[in-house]
Amino acid sequence: MNTLSPNYPLTELNEDEVLFRDTVRQFAEKDIAPLVRRMDEEQRFDAGIIRRLFELGLMGIEIPEKYNGSAGTFFDAILAVESLSAVDPSIAVLVDVQNTLVVNALLHWATDAQKDRYLPQLATDLTGAYALSEAGSGSDAFALQTRAEKRGEDYVLTGRKLWITNSKEAGLFIVFATVNPALGYRGITAFLVEKGAPGFAIGRKEDKLGIRASSTCELIFDGCLVPATQVLGEIGKGYKIAIETLNEGRIGIGAQMVGLAEGAWAHAAKYAKERKQFGKALVEFQAMQFQLAEMATEIEAARLMVYNAARLKEAGLPFRKEAAMCKYFASQVAERVASLAVEVLGGVGFVRDYPVEKLYRDAKIGKIYEGTSFMQLSVIARLMLDLR
Ligand SMILES: Cc1cc2nc3c(=O)[nH]c(=O)nc-3n(C[C@H](O)[C@H](O)[C@H](O)COP(=O)(O)OP(=O)(O)OC[C@H]3O[C@@H](n4cnc5c(N)ncnc54)[C@H](O)[C@@H]3O)c2cc1C
Repeated sequence: MNTLSPNYPLTELNEDEVLFRDTVRQFAEKDIAPLVRRMDEEQRFDAGIIRRLFELGLMGIEIPEKYNGSAGTFFDAILAVESLSAVDPSIAVLVDVQNTLVVNALLHWATDAQKDRYLPQLATDLTGAYALSEAGSGSDAFALQTRAEKRGEDYVLTGRKLWITNSKEAGLFIVFATVNPALGYRGITAFLVEKGAPGFAIGRKEDKLGIRASSTCELIFDGCLVPATQVLGEIGKGYKIAIETLNEGRIGIGAQMVGLAEGAWAHAAKYAKERKQFGKALVEFQAMQFQLAEMATEIEAARLMVYNAARLKEAGLPFRKEAAMCKYFASQVAERVASLAVEVLGGVGFVRDYPVEKLYRDAKIGKIYEGTSFMQLSVIARLMLDLR
């Protein structure tokens, strides 16, 4: 919980938060930045960087100390995602999924035995993935078809998941399957499935427009035996786990998009100060100043929305509307700012030698995953218009 007075300005961070954010920023600029282009081209993370993320405590931010975690806050996780994303939105989503979806779900729903087994590993060397989407169920996530049939004390999972972030790196997967399709969403149950479980295989890796270093794969369950002790939460309550974790996860994606926009803006501003045309630095032209000022204003608005949603969540206040709004808005801002940043750099903005073309490609995903922009609008409308 934030120790600042209740009336502090929203962007004012306490001492611990400033220290944490600056540490992540320095790490991102010094250690990640030199690897970004190669990781994007090779479509995989540098293994050493993932190790460093664990060493710095960034993969278990909210995990309590007794499980070797960083004992930080949800807001810290948001700051980490924002700061990493300014340098590489791919690294940011690895950290985001780990903290705001996987660890979050375990902290809220796991049994003591599950926490004892997985939280210390998630804090030190185990990457997690969150598997809800399927080929036939994206926005309509609860139409999922993956079956979990009871066999004695165990469950047998059969089906396929699509688009699963972190699948190449992950050792633990939260998998949503239905124990009885006739029950509709009330049959959906979450399972903890370990990499290497018999009958579980990682399928095709997607060749993506952006966040190319982040792995996105199909998961194949072909009679995968999962002990009943691996059920996360209650049978038939998987829909609740999905809804609640995704409500929080959206704030993380908002932070990813704010960070991306900040990174693009910084590159554009630096270039506009250095590049001379007509005998002057670009930044001396009012048209350029106004573009940069407008971008900065939009970023500030998006950041305020993300921080507000995160602070509301941390304070235990309702935040669903604010979470949907901040993801919706921040993903628009990221796309606009990254696009303008490409234009500010002119020709070199369009080539790979400079980072803005990558940020422009990376921005698009903000409008798609963890609920498309239309789905965010639908959540906002339902909440504001008292619709069911
Ligand atoms: C890179 C990447 C990583 C991902 N990571 C994960 C992950 O880790 N785990 C996971 O479970 N999933 C993941 N996803 C899946 C992602 O959440 C889905 O792609 C997303 O929810 C959209 O689903 P869909 O692709 O099936 O699109 P669809 O649901 O088919 O939507 C297509 C279009 O129709 C619109 N639409 C749909 N329904 C309506 C409606 N009722 N009214 C108006 N418009 C509508 C949508 O807004 C969209 O524009 C990832 C996806 C990508 C691309």
